[in-house]
Amino acid sequence: MLRLTDVQLPLDHSEEDLLAAIIARLGIKADDLIAHTVFRRGYDARKKNAIVMVYTLDVEIRDQDKHAKRLQGNRHVTIAPDTSYHFVAQAPADLTMRPVVIGFGPCGIFAALILAQMGFRPIILERGKEVRERTKDTFGLWRKRELNPESNVQFGEGGAGTFSDGKLWSQVKDPKHYGRKVLMEFVKADAPPEIMYVSKPHIGTFRLVKMVELMREEIVRLGGEFRFESKVDDIEIEDGKVCGLKLADGSHIATDHVVLAIGHSARDTFKMLHARGIYLEPKPFSIGFRIEHPQSLIDACRLGPNAGHPVLGAADYKLVYHASNGRSVYSFCMCPGGTVVAAASEPGRVVTNGMSQYSRNERNANAGIVVGITPADYPGDPLAGMEFQRQWEERAFELGGGNYDAPGQLVGDFIADRPSTEFGSVLPSYKPGVKLGDLNTSLPSYVIAAIREALPAFEKQIKGFSMNDAVLTGVETRTSSPISIKRNDDDLQSINTRGLFPAGEGAGYAGGIMSAAIDGIRVAEALALSMLEGVKRG
Ligand code: FAD
Repeated sequence: MLRLTDVQLPLDHSEEDLLAAIIARLGIKADDLIAHTVFRRGYDARKKNAIVMVYTLDVEIRDQDKHAKRLQGNRHVTIAPDTSYHFVAQAPADLTMRPVVIGFGPCGIFAALILAQMGFRPIILERGKEVRERTKDTFGLWRKRELNPESNVQFGEGGAGTFSDGKLWSQVKDPKHYGRKVLMEFVKADAPPEIMYVSKPHIGTFRLVKMVELMREEIVRLGGEFRFESKVDDIEIEDGKVCGLKLADGSHIATDHVVLAIGHSARDTFKMLHARGIYLEPKPFSIGFRIEHPQSLIDACRLGPNAGHPVLGAADYKLVYHASNGRSVYSFCMCPGGTVVAAASEPGRVVTNGMSQYSRNERNANAGIVVGITPADYPGDPLAGMEFQRQWEERAFELGGGNYDAPGQLVGDFIADRPSTEFGSVLPSYKPGVKLGDLNTSLPSYVIAAIREALPAFEKQIKGFSMNDAVLTGVETRTSSPISIKRNDDDLQSINTRGLFPAGEGAGYAGGIMSAAIDGIRVAEALALSMLEGVKRG
């Protein structure tokens, strides 16, 4: 198979145009082309009036070796690499001890799936409920202002990304092509097949719910076992090694291999890990607001006359600004045609995030506009960042009126430093509601100053970005984990607790669905090899 990169065609082209481009690139006769598949499809919209589709293609041709030799030196024609997934181990049939995966978010899903596919029959412990039940609880906050601290946007089957935009791209290094394995498993679980090749794949909330169920069924079919509403309350350690887990209901599970994939919001569990002496470090993260604009404004700016083209979908953006106070301000988790969601997991606190459906056809575009902060901003023990998040989430609850409404302000008023009293043309999507006022005291002054400076600067990249009526909703505090649970680079075990494999976003090894899933695969492999080593040693 040959791989052709940077094959460019106009936005509106036919399949014949694509075939002709392949033949021209390779300089072959039409009859010599046997088959082709699209490996990646993106677009270049720098010239809005002449948007170009850019393909990476895998092609099968007659006399491949001869042509490959002739085309040597052409950097856009290479031998396609093997991107298939190869298991690193197979569990012996008589394996008695079972590995445990704590948390069934993207990281835990892939750790459990790979372990199950290798025959290790994992036990999965998830503090939240099955995804259908969890959906009802999540809607409980959005529609009835009722927060269930164990079953919400952050906790439950599917993890934090279940009610999300389901963006699936990541910039992590992936030399072993684990990302392909993740996408293939998602497609097996009924994700839209195009996620295999579009450059910025996304799934959207409703489809994610169904996929999570199908993946659970597959893990069960392979011998895995699920226990929902099973919060791990304690980790039993002897001589620096894990030997068991205690659950909130008082029950106990003996195990010496544990994947810790608890996400960035399991604050009680972070506290327990710290009290147990498991090595943690504070970690930088970002805080800010969600911003909402009409999606049509973003589409027009990004895609010009091609706005609304079905191949392009709703447009996104990515913005960065370096403020004069030394802080970086950037857009985070942009959700085209989506909604801002209440993402709190603790009573008396307000947190925002964003989600969308597959169609991305809601009226507003939303994104986090966040500012990078470091442990120097929250000095103290390794959990100080977590307390810092809590402090601002409580402040947001208070400013919102103490009923889970979020505090908000119009962009024009925020820039002019005056309180907002009335919505304009942009109505916020956050449920249960947004209370307009003044966001000045909702976050530290250096964050407010940096965002106030950044919004007019972003106007230079997206005309209309600092429009008066755009809405800011606060606060966005859970951009990533405030701690890192350090592990060894080689065997991926905690640096001071053998048998414990910190993984995914909560441990500081991922930021997003795809990178968390990839980390789950890496950790499953390391765990499997460690278990087999233990078997060999007897
Ligand atoms: P999580 O998904 O957080 O999963 C951790 C799981 O562990 C949870 O289910 C939790 O209940 C469980 N758990 C915690 N403690 C315990 C315990 N003590 N015992 C048992 N179980 C426990 N990322 C993207 O890439 N694209 C997006 O579009 C996107 N949108 C998002 C939208 C929203 C609203 C949110 C909240 C997040 C979004 N993210 C998105 C981020 C993404 O969801 C996370 O990066 C990802 O889910 C992290 O995966 P994880 O498996 O490491 O942790």
